[in-house]
Amino acid sequence: MVFTADTDLTLAHAAAVANTGPGLGAEDREQLADLGDLQAWFDRWEWTGRRPSTRAELDAVRALRPRLRRLWTLRDDALVEEVNALLAEGGALPRLVRHGDIGWHVHATSDDAPIAERISVEVGMALVDVIRADEVDRLRVCAGEDCEDLLVDLSRNRSRKFCDGTCGTRANVAAYRARKAAADS
Ligand SMILES: [Zn+2]
Ligand SMILES: [Zn+2]
Repeated sequence: MVFTADTDLTLAHAAAVANTGPGLGAEDREQLADLGDLQAWFDRWEWTGRRPSTRAELDAVRALRPRLRRLWTLRDDALVEEVNALLAEGGALPRLVRHGDIGWHVHATSDDAPIAERISVEVGMALVDVIRADEVDRLRVCAGEDCEDLLVDLSRNRSRKFCDGTCGTRANVAAYRARKAAADS
């Protein structure tokens, strides 16, 4: 755990939301194609509060993705400005809550706020932690060829370069082949 458990989870969730959009790979498809996809997402990530129930809520989450993506590439003052904007726009009002088997953590929107607003404020709060700890370098874009997936490097030695998909395996195979070719020549 690099940050608090809720911050780690929020960062992983934000990257995953951004990565639901169609990317560069040919097989990459829209993973939030309809409201049912968004509701399944909501359940899978064990969101609490009001469940998304309208097409507008789906559109808002999809529209949020490029903004999440931008957060991963902004640095310094530009990132701080954007984080402050997210918190202000969502009317962030931090409070401590506890639910399920998750210990005390922070929510900063009401439980019936639209899901896109809850996601954007939550990621804003998580980035407050990241920036204060001077750990912004842990927000990365996958180094895989033809992949632009976002990732959060929560490893102890800050060594993570690839997304959760096949990129890491592919890179390992390519490195192995290169070593073997060099040894054979
Ligand atoms: Zn919670
Ligand atoms: Zn990747």
